[in-house]
Amino acid sequence: MNIALIAHDKKKEEMIEFVKDNEELFAKHNLYGTGTTGKKIMENTNLTVHRFLSGPYGGDQQIGSMIAIGKMDMVFFFRDPLTAQPHEPDISALMRLCDVHYIPLASNKATALILLKSL
Ligand code: PGA
Repeated sequence: MNIALIAHDKKKEEMIEFVKDNEELFAKHNLYGTGTTGKKIMENTNLTVHRFLSGPYGGDQQIGSMIAIGKMDMVFFFRDPLTAQPHEPDISALMRLCDVHYIPLASNKATALILLKSL
């Protein structure tokens, strides 16, 4: 499966712990991430993450484009609901495309843990 991993700044530690805790499982899949999230995951695990641009510079849209052409199967997007994001339109667009194309999207760790069980 092609899996996208994205985390806002205040959620990056949570994402890294989540990926580390499930590293064996993630190792069986093709991983994609926004620039900084992907970099931090690679620094903290033995996983390879195909990195797009950083989210605010277009990374969310790049992942959205993969969804649009049917090349992304699942999205883990740990959003920070308490901080305004300058690229909010890109975030909404990415989530919208998940709904348009019926792509499973976990926007927090609780949903992510349940989604993981389906892998
Ligand atoms: P980043 O982007 O992984 O490059 O920080 C995430 C985001 O804010 O969308």
